[in-house]
Amino acid sequence: MSRRKKIKVDSKEIDDKLNNADEENVAEASDKTKTLPSEKKLNSGASSSKGNKKESKKEELKKEEDKKKDIDPESELDDPVIKDLFSGLEGAAFQSRMPFDKMTSTEAACFPDIAQAALQTIKVYLNVRNRILQMWLDNPKQQLILEDVMEKIEVPYNSDAPLVKRVHAFLERNGYINFGVFKRLKPLPSKKYGKVIVIGAGIAGLAAAQQLQQFGLEVIVLEARDRVGGRIATFRKGNYIADLGAMVVTGLGGNPVTTLSKQIDMELHRIRQKCPLYQSSGVTVDKDKDEMVEREFNRLLEATSYLSHQLDFNYAGNKPVSLGQALEWVIKLQEKHVKEKQIQHLKSVITLQEKLKTNQKLLVGIKEQMFETNAKIRELASVEKRDIQLEFAYRSTVRDLNSYSKEWDQLQEQAKEIEDKLKELEASPPSDVYLSSKDRQILDWHFANLEFANATPLSNLSLKHWDQDDDFEFTGNHLTGEWAQL
Ligand SMILES: Cc1cc2nc3c(=O)[nH]c(=O)nc-3n(C[C@H](O)[C@H](O)[C@H](O)COP(=O)(O)OP(=O)(O)OC[C@H]3O[C@@H](n4cnc5c(N)ncnc54)[C@H](O)[C@@H]3O)c2cc1C
Repeated sequence: MSRRKKIKVDSKEIDDKLNNADEENVAEASDKTKTLPSEKKLNSGASSSKGNKKESKKEELKKEEDKKKDIDPESELDDPVIKDLFSGLEGAAFQSRMPFDKMTSTEAACFPDIAQAALQTIKVYLNVRNRILQMWLDNPKQQLILEDVMEKIEVPYNSDAPLVKRVHAFLERNGYINFGVFKRLKPLPSKKYGKVIVIGAGIAGLAAAQQLQQFGLEVIVLEARDRVGGRIATFRKGNYIADLGAMVVTGLGGNPVTTLSKQIDMELHRIRQKCPLYQSSGVTVDKDKDEMVEREFNRLLEATSYLSHQLDFNYAGNKPVSLGQALEWVIKLQEKHVKEKQIQHLKSVITLQEKLKTNQKLLVGIKEQMFETNAKIRELASVEKRDIQLEFAYRSTVRDLNSYSKEWDQLQEQAKEIEDKLKELEASPPSDVYLSSKDRQILDWHFANLEFANATPLSNLSLKHWDQDDDFEFTGNHLTGEWAQL
């Protein structure tokens, strides 16, 4: 799911998960031990009966639990499902943002001899690479030195020592291993290979400085402010501490922060984001309406994405289009579409009414014919002894009456069908507005939420580029921990 709607969506996913977890907690109210997610699933499935006393007790307890804590007590890193996801060679590659069974373009450039070799050689390379990553992720608190790798790496992968050495050096040089806060087993190189000035002591500058220092460079960090950390800072007032600029870990999957949190024993907790929407009257927005508008919000974003990435509609009058502009245009198109639907609806009603009119006219005509024919039959029937000609006239008039009667029945049936269709159409008229003013208010909340997530008005966001990092999102829940300790 895209970052575009992450905050709200995550809150729903988290709510669902927490609801399941809460049910588990309630079912075993005295047992405060951690719960396997798979168990949660089973329990949520079993709790479909509504309205019994147990359920209301559960609800009471749930409310109490909700009041007591704002975050799930379960540490994400201890979650067996998460552990499972990160385990094995595949998990190690995933967590290091590398394809498990392929070389990246950087690897191919650094190891041309391997990249061009037979498949078996590439496989050996990948195994060595993934295994080294796994060793690092298993114990990121300590520098992973080549000697340890050589000791641990399994037969037959240990047979090519120069290859293992190259892979280890590559992973270290590119920051896949030996990064963050860890115990060094080997001193920093005493011989300096050069001097580097890093401008800015934000997390990026500090991390770069540390890496460069490890590689044997003399590093000077210049910072304009009187503190390090840049946008990341811990706010302290009395007993209150709040982490600014890095309070949320936006998913553990592929996130180096996962390693950092392990290194400093920081527990990460899923964020409890109850996020009910309130109307201006103070009443919460009805669930169905909330979901309907959220779906519409996502459809609108998808439409703008289609405009930008499929139709390459990114400039209007030589000016780049903003996301805000594109959204309003799509809304206008939707409003036009509503009007078109209304016109189409009215046209269908008119066509049916015309059909009904024709049908009624035919019925009136047939009725008249039937009256006339009936009168003629009575007249002929009153003749006591009909000669052959009169008998023929009598019989053919009876036959005519029968066929009029059949036609009458058919027209009546047709009239019923048309009337039913008309009723159906009249019972489900299309909406006369795309969004009611209340719907628009809720939609505006989503827009505001998006502006919050992007820290700027939608009119400032480039339609073409605002979602450029969507493909590089981390996976998993949004979490929080005590960053101050870092
Ligand atoms: C309100 C807010 C909330 C956020 N919440 C989260 C969150 O929950 N989760 C998350 O992952 N991210 C969050 N972020 C984003 C995150 O804080 C940043 O992505 C990250 O801190 C950027 O680090 P950086 O080192 O690249 O840049 P910065 O932290 O901006 O560091 C740049 C440093 O360079 C210095 N500098 C700039 N120019 C010069 C110069 N010419 N000379 C000397 N020094 C200079 C600056 O003073 C600054 O210290 C948030 C950001 C903000 C503002």
